[in-house]
Amino acid sequence: MSFKPSFRVAVLGATGMVGQWLVHMLDRHPWFRVVALTASDRSVGRPYGEACRWLLSAPMPEWAARMVVGPTEPGFDAEIVISALPSDIAREVEPQFAAAGYLVASNASSYRMAADVPLLMPDVNFDHLGLLPRQQETRGWAGALVTNPNCTTTAVVLPLKALMPFGIRRVHLVSLQALSGAGYPGVSAMEIADNVLPYIPGEEEKLETEPRKLLGQVRDGEVEEAPIRLSAQTNRVPTLDGHLVCLSVELEDPIGPEEAAKAMAGYRPPEEVADLPSATAQPIVVRTEPDRPQPRLDRMAGGGMSVVVGRVQRCPVFTLKFAALTHNTIRGAAGAALFNAEAALRWLGKV
Ligand code: NAP
Repeated sequence: MSFKPSFRVAVLGATGMVGQWLVHMLDRHPWFRVVALTASDRSVGRPYGEACRWLLSAPMPEWAARMVVGPTEPGFDAEIVISALPSDIAREVEPQFAAAGYLVASNASSYRMAADVPLLMPDVNFDHLGLLPRQQETRGWAGALVTNPNCTTTAVVLPLKALMPFGIRRVHLVSLQALSGAGYPGVSAMEIADNVLPYIPGEEEKLETEPRKLLGQVRDGEVEEAPIRLSAQTNRVPTLDGHLVCLSVELEDPIGPEEAAKAMAGYRPPEEVADLPSATAQPIVVRTEPDRPQPRLDRMAGGGMSVVVGRVQRCPVFTLKFAALTHNTIRGAAGAALFNAEAALRWLGKV
């Protein structure tokens, strides 16, 4: 009989936008069983079905509706903690969970750029889990902390990873980001209907720094960042899910659109992660129609875990330009954290 992994999981911030996606995706996860859902004092002690204003079109799982929301503090019987907490709360409590021995996979930005914390996309930089021994040694943690990037970063990093062999010098990008990226209730209808907001607090800085870490090399227990210069402008638009990013990329090797599209479509995850439950066989799907990708039509490619690229063209200023789409709450958040937890278990030799 083949070995079937089984791990107990707690979701922190389970009533929020990302928390709901986690509950939905964990309902069918082959390895993970939810034993605790936590949120703020507003929700603690109430059944999840009452405390949570459920916003997904799929129904809330019955086991989740019955579960009583617990406080966000260590003490439950689980091996893995998936955190969908606001960053100020995550900064305080995630180290407490890691110190108490849990493997923490976080969505929050609080520790993404910390030198000893892997900022991880397993199909891009699985080897960055090599930071964990240093993390456990310097912080004295029995557990560990891994983080996933900002949702929009995922649309940028996968295509850039496939183009790394051609030498990336500079990137300019403009994002069109969906409403769900702002959590619930997010921006008000009065602000966003018939409108585009050309400012998302903190977002441009994240897009200009996180890809350099993700695409960097681990040497002697440290990440040497990729020497890529990035300039980002971010916009909130009235779509529900799916962040679209328009990129112009300058390469050392002036390849044409066909070769670039081939490199992206042919990009495959490293073999260590290819069989993980959240891995997608084709991380980058390349569309050739002139009007794709579109959020509504393309965000669920690869179960929401593939980045969809289109409009790959020569750029008259840099080398190439193209559009890339990511499902912000799946590849950019809930699916990303589950993939990271699975990859960390693989790295630690538990699966
Ligand atoms: P959200 O909808 O605002 O949900 C926040 C969650 O945190 C709720 O469950 C809330 O519980 C809980 N919470 C708030 N204050 C708390 C406290 N003091 N103690 C314990 N729990 C508390 O936010 P979100 O969009 O799901 O985002 C969650 C995290 O993921 C954020 O760090 C965000 O930056 C990151 N992220 C989001 C996306 C996205 O696309 N939305 C993508 C990537 C990363 P109550 O319901 O009880 O208030």
